[in-house]
Amino acid sequence: MSTVELGGGTVADELRAAVRGPVIGPGDTDYDDVRKVYNGAIDRHPTAVVRIADVADVITCVDFARRHAMPLAVRGGGHHGAGFGVADDALVIDFRDRRSTTVDPVAATVQVDAGCTWGDVDHATGTFGMATPSGFVSTTGVAGLTLGGGTGYLTRHFGLTIDNLLSADVVLADGTFVRASSGSHPDLFWALRGGGGNFGVVTSFTFRCHRMGDDGEIIGGPVLYDIADADEVFGWYREILPSLPDELNGWIGVLEVPSAAPFPEELWRRRVCGIVWCYSGSRADADEILRPVREFGSPLLSGVAPMPYRMLQQAFDGLLPSGLQWYWKADIYEEITDDAIAVHRRFGEDIPTPLSTMHLYPISGAAARVPEDATAFAYRRGGWNGVIAGIDPSPANLPRISAWAREYWEQLHPTSAGGGYVNMMMDEGDERVRAAYRGNYERLAQVKHRYDPTNLFRLNQNIAPG
Ligand SMILES: Cc1cc2nc3c(=O)[nH]c(=O)nc-3n(C[C@H](O)[C@H](O)[C@H](O)COP(=O)(O)OP(=O)(O)OC[C@H]3O[C@@H](n4cnc5c(N)ncnc54)[C@H](O)[C@@H]3O)c2cc1C
Repeated sequence: MSTVELGGGTVADELRAAVRGPVIGPGDTDYDDVRKVYNGAIDRHPTAVVRIADVADVITCVDFARRHAMPLAVRGGGHHGAGFGVADDALVIDFRDRRSTTVDPVAATVQVDAGCTWGDVDHATGTFGMATPSGFVSTTGVAGLTLGGGTGYLTRHFGLTIDNLLSADVVLADGTFVRASSGSHPDLFWALRGGGGNFGVVTSFTFRCHRMGDDGEIIGGPVLYDIADADEVFGWYREILPSLPDELNGWIGVLEVPSAAPFPEELWRRRVCGIVWCYSGSRADADEILRPVREFGSPLLSGVAPMPYRMLQQAFDGLLPSGLQWYWKADIYEEITDDAIAVHRRFGEDIPTPLSTMHLYPISGAAARVPEDATAFAYRRGGWNGVIAGIDPSPANLPRISAWAREYWEQLHPTSAGGGYVNMMMDEGDERVRAAYRGNYERLAQVKHRYDPTNLFRLNQNIAPG
């Protein structure tokens, strides 16, 4: 635990004199609370955590870290599996108190502070029957998810989260403050859309919003099949998904049925493959478009129904509280091969703990019509963002869930497009970061050199200045 002395006081003392937000250091009563991130397997001891009150605090922290050559961590929602939002001996810029949103219903935009979760945004936009494309749960931070790309229920209809980003307010490594958009610092704006936290500290995002259906609602929910039907279900899904209208999205996974309502008790702990659907188009076309979904196979459970978008977004929140042990592996798959299906069935039959799971999130429809070099996000040829997550409350099970995820990933990797999604990888080194950005890596390295030549922002999926 660091109690670095600077100019006669601790780092926390020095910072307290300079910023408006609370500064928490070792020895403060809430220190153990603020150093926690979502992944309970992360246990790190920063030198000081600054709960940011305003942009001036961010500038002060960036200048402070640069002058004192301190590691600088930036925490949005704290959900990254590798725990990049906290580090030993670091100064942490913590946005947890910055959670305001402003919807402009006429322009169909929403301005979002960097500490917001997607639940905050859904609450604000849902009131107007709108949504901004995000992910598949509501507790993730807007900042990290957006900066890495953002795949979710609305990806096929309206693109990745970054395809709906209009501008970002950013504090750069030299302490200057800029607004990045297509018309202002376009190189920075390009890099921010997928390049993660490498280029500066974003204090606010402005997104485009979209109307949900005719009446603010989507039609969605899970359809679960016995894992023994995996060959048939995955085989059907890989053919039909790309042929569906953009308005219909569905991610497929292997999982254990949670032992909780609303799942019927006779299905609890049953190993299944499931597809969670979301139809965000007009109600008049819904029956026809959803017909194949309703007619296929012999589901154990079908829960597809009209609901507000935010209800679908929150459906899995309760199962995944903060503090569980997580180990992630990720890859992008441009096809689901027969070999891959066999691997999914095998590892789906052998899920090590009730919450451990594998998901394939589509990156097709509108997201695949954006050119691959239009943003930093490099995998847009159709296909899926695949994640294997070993999850359990008990630290004693971390080795077992990690081994399952690693082995599953290794057997699938030969069927992948080569790289993974930066937001669902652990801290896996330079080669994996390069593979995540493939053809866009060199340009990212050049933008990094322009905006952060000394690599002040390095506690992330790091791109070295080129
Ligand atoms: C349960 C769960 C479900 C998920 N579902 C999805 C999903 O459906 N779709 C999807 O795309 N992703 C999903 N993810 C992955 C998610 O995108 C990442 O975990 C993401 O990093 C979360 O952002 P955060 O702000 O909460 O994370 P943090 O850990 O706070 O930050 C992640 C990274 O972003 C940087 N960062 C954070 N804030 C800022 C800022 N203001 N300025 C600059 N850099 C910043 C951090 O330094 C760090 O490197 C999920 C994660 C979890 C745990």
